[in-house]
Amino acid sequence: MQTAIAPSLDIQQIRQDFPILDQQINNRPLVYLDNAATTQKPRAVIDALTNYYEGYNANIHRGIHHLAEQATAAFEASRRAMQSFLNAEHWQEIIFTYGTTDGINLVAQAYGRRFLNAGDEIIISGMEHHSNIVPWQMLCEERGCVLKVIPVDEQGDLMLDEYDNLLSEKTKLVSVVHASNSLGTVNPVKTIIDKAHAVGAVVLIDGAQSSSHLTVDVQDLDADFFVCSAHKFYGPTGMGVLYGKTALLEAMSPYRGGGEMIREVTFEKTTYNDIPYKFEAGTPNIADVVAVKAAIEYIGQLSKEAISAHELDLLHYATEQLSEIDGLRIIGQAREKIGVVSFVMDGIHHQDMGVILDQQGIAVRTGHHCTMPLMHRFGIAGTTRASFAVYNTKDEIDRLAQGIRRVQKMML
Ligand SMILES: *Cc1c(COP(=O)(O)O)cnc(C)c1O
Repeated sequence: MQTAIAPSLDIQQIRQDFPILDQQINNRPLVYLDNAATTQKPRAVIDALTNYYEGYNANIHRGIHHLAEQATAAFEASRRAMQSFLNAEHWQEIIFTYGTTDGINLVAQAYGRRFLNAGDEIIISGMEHHSNIVPWQMLCEERGCVLKVIPVDEQGDLMLDEYDNLLSEKTKLVSVVHASNSLGTVNPVKTIIDKAHAVGAVVLIDGAQSSSHLTVDVQDLDADFFVCSAHKFYGPTGMGVLYGKTALLEAMSPYRGGGEMIREVTFEKTTYNDIPYKFEAGTPNIADVVAVKAAIEYIGQLSKEAISAHELDLLHYATEQLSEIDGLRIIGQAREKIGVVSFVMDGIHHQDMGVILDQQGIAVRTGHHCTMPLMHRFGIAGTTRASFAVYNTKDEIDRLAQGIRRVQKMML
């Protein structure tokens, strides 16, 4: 596994920034290890939401009054913050969505239905979240395209030789996850993108996990589309971003029709607004967009490198501690990982594991993690998953390991 050198963080200090962490669950201090599902929010993000509603709530863009101007300025300031967070070249390339799922559907509909035809091939991978499978299946059904899948090896790495075999001049679109929410695998997306471009395909990267745990640079990756969800990187729920290259976004049809996305409407014909507004029909999620800037600033203060280094340290420690437990098998031992440890245990169903850990105040996720085909690949119904964020500690991993041993005692 990779190592990183970065300034160390004062984790106890950081925990003070997250009010929710300071509570007892079932008479034990909460150990929150479900960060791949959603992260907790620092006070700065909560305050940004409150400040917006208490101070300058108004509908944006068409208002002439003071509050509308203030809300519009804050909304557009968040777009610039997201632009620099992903290192996009232009602010117009940042489209606000409701999250990763929404962003992928937008591309499948607005790009896919316009540019993909019968017989064209779409390549995804065997470790995709359902939100990066189903929209493409829907498109394939409608347009007669063919879905191809890069297989996953026993360690949890993508089989890139197989990817080479799948690529051809029929490949029109490749959509893969940057970092797996189920296995933790960090995929070599730069290589995947280069190879797709060599056959003329466009590439979408599902950055739901990478945006919170890795430094993302869409220009360096040369990604055509990149999607993420704010709630996975300490921001609010129901808000995310689609990054797309200008030329692609301009060529695409609108996705939803309505207010804001138009230039002029008559009953005979409607002309559309410029990007990004062409894709932002209706009143957006203003408060949550405004608050995402606070999440980005919070991450920036701590530094992404330092956060990643801390999480890797936790990953190594958890991998060591959990490997020592008899009968426990970690699913996903890829060369490069984010802080996710998924495991199964002889004789104990993951659901029982989750319930009994919860009785001890430990929050983990159990089940298929929205990656059912991946579970099939490993011949299992689901796993128990512990996933780490900046505020987690080695003490909490010790609690997890003790908790698992306790489950074993009770069940076996
Ligand atoms: C969470 C997640 C999604 C879905 O994100 P939503 O915010 O639910 O739209 C997609 N892909 C991965 C890898 C995820 O972790």
